[in-house]
Amino acid sequence: MDKDIATPVRTKRILEKYGFSFKKRLGQNFLIDTNILTRIVDHAELSGQSGAIEIGPGIGALTEQLAKRSKKVVAFEIDQRLLPILEETLSPYDNVKIIHEDILKADVAQVISDEFQRIEDLMVVANLPYYVTTPIILKLLTDTLPIRGIVCMLQKEVADRIAARPGTKEYGSLSIAIQYYTEAETVMIVPKTVFVPQPNVDSAVIRLKRREQPLVEVIDEEFFFTITRASFAQRRKTISNNLTSQLPDGKAKKASILQALERSGIDPARRGETLSIEEFGKLSSELYGFFK
Ligand code: SAM
Repeated sequence: MDKDIATPVRTKRILEKYGFSFKKRLGQNFLIDTNILTRIVDHAELSGQSGAIEIGPGIGALTEQLAKRSKKVVAFEIDQRLLPILEETLSPYDNVKIIHEDILKADVAQVISDEFQRIEDLMVVANLPYYVTTPIILKLLTDTLPIRGIVCMLQKEVADRIAARPGTKEYGSLSIAIQYYTEAETVMIVPKTVFVPQPNVDSAVIRLKRREQPLVEVIDEEFFFTITRASFAQRRKTISNNLTSQLPDGKAKKASILQALERSGIDPARRGETLSIEEFGKLSSELYGFFK
């Protein structure tokens, strides 16, 4: 059998054979290092009975490693030009299905129920297109899919924000949105040299383990996320000033905002970045009655 897809020589041969040109706007940076791919798959903790969903298989570098280590792989690829290439590179594997679709438009729940009927353990594993990292992760989490978690490569700067703890400059509404659903951890920092073409930014791999229950109990998730976003609208402002200026009729309802902060045990002079997710949960429940 041919060598792994993800070697510089084999990748170059495949790209030349098909006259493939990279589309920057589709975030096409392919991995050419099998060792990195093996380590990414290790972090997914798959068994031979697991299913894997991949986003953006490219020429199949990661797909191949997933096919070797799981029962079935379903991969969503937006770029039609890659379909004949994948057909050839993945021909040794009979447990891979490629779906030609934009992941942001796909009905992933339906695909899971059609394709993974007898599979109980399901992970998303991907080297994500960097231009849409956050919408993809948020879609996968908010669609409440039956997945154990996500292991994915993304810009290091976004990984830092996702996994950030309160009191750090990276902590914000993105950290909260993702940690509400998952335990988030950066597990690898990846050098630019393992991609063709090399991206302009540093990369990292994060592991998101889905929580059985969201981290905090809230009355209304959408309202909770509105409160967290409002609290970080201007990072240098206090929480009370941000809420007053961001929430509808916030100025008129300043007394209610102060009351909700007091009931939650939060000093109105604190900044959003110092509040734990539990504190945001309590605060949004206290504010709910005043704004809903
Ligand atoms: N998995 C391959 C690898 O590691 O070498 C390629 C990863 S590359 C960073 C991102 C891939 O996502 C590309 O193949 C690109 O065409 C695909 N892609 C970009 N936007 C997409 C979308 N909205 N839905 C599905 N695939 C997408």
